[in-house]
Amino acid sequence: MTTSDLDLARESYRQISLYAPDREPCAIDLSDNTNLWGVPPSALAALREVRGEAVTRYPPLYADDLKRALASYIGCGATAANVVTGCGSDDVLDSAIRAFAEPGDSIAYPDPSFGMIPIFARMNGLRPVPVPLTSSFDIDAEAMVATRARIIYICSPNNPTGAAAPAAAIAHIIKNAWGVVLIDEAYAEFARASSVELAMRGRGTIVVRTMSKAFGLAGLRVGYAVGPHELVGEVEKSRGPYKVGALAGRAALAALDNDLAWVRERVDLAVDQCEELAGALRKMGFAPLPSAANFVLVPVASAAAMARAMRAAGVAVRPFADLPGIGDALRITVGPPVMMDACLSALTEAASC
Ligand SMILES: *Cc1c(COP(=O)(O)O)cnc(C)c1O
Repeated sequence: MTTSDLDLARESYRQISLYAPDREPCAIDLSDNTNLWGVPPSALAALREVRGEAVTRYPPLYADDLKRALASYIGCGATAANVVTGCGSDDVLDSAIRAFAEPGDSIAYPDPSFGMIPIFARMNGLRPVPVPLTSSFDIDAEAMVATRARIIYICSPNNPTGAAAPAAAIAHIIKNAWGVVLIDEAYAEFARASSVELAMRGRGTIVVRTMSKAFGLAGLRVGYAVGPHELVGEVEKSRGPYKVGALAGRAALAALDNDLAWVRERVDLAVDQCEELAGALRKMGFAPLPSAANFVLVPVASAAAMARAMRAAGVAVRPFADLPGIGDALRITVGPPVMMDACLSALTEAASC
């Protein structure tokens, strides 16, 4: 009997396809919600000062200095023992799912929300349970709790819709969840709201954050989670040692020590541009969803065709096909006014095709 090499792989993995969205270079890239206002200056300086030893030796096992700096940034009484870091928040989410659920358990999440969650669910042998948003594009707290899932994932502000979850909905889920609640706050800096304080009070909740978005360090891959020590410690076991590279760790520390004002200023600019962009889109006859993040979701007739035409005009945006309750839509990251002008021209051109 002959077996192909593929037969030797885990059966459930064969149905998972590689995450590979269109990332062809484009003059103006508004497709991934990163900080388009540049790099925190102290982080860049730290990278330039790196010496050979930082590269030949292993980095700190669990990035204790970085955890201390993150705890002080987060506030709410958090200490290093309440923080776990990772190779991007993707790694932290994956590790948390593995730490809190056995294969065969279920994970509930709003639909639409962050596209990696059903993928991480299946990679860890979990049953994905998507829960539709309400008609006003909010999370359906009752329905989420009613799943009795081992893990409830919520994303606030939600990617790709942009809405922050109402505080009452979050509180309801935390109070009534059967298992662990993971709150993804990749865009919390833009919303100027956070559930960290709730998580720190206990009751099975951790908040997952990243330095990829507001902090402008996506290329370095630094994510983290904060919550009760008992939960965070389990995620740390699951993620394993050496997940934050030496260069990434140093640059992230430098940004937390010296660049917070820089970050705050760019967040303010992004929030202003988000309102501007939504206003301009409404004037053009579109109906963008309200956003508390640094991106706007715009329903359109045919997202793939529009995104292709915009790309031909030098602007990359992220198309979504047939989102539940929304239909086709484009997700546009906000950036400096020149980029927004180019985006609106490309959109006008694409819409007239
Ligand atoms: C971008 C994003 C992440 C992933 O960020 P990394 O830290 O770069 O892995 C996580 N969650 C959401 C909702 C995101 O949009």
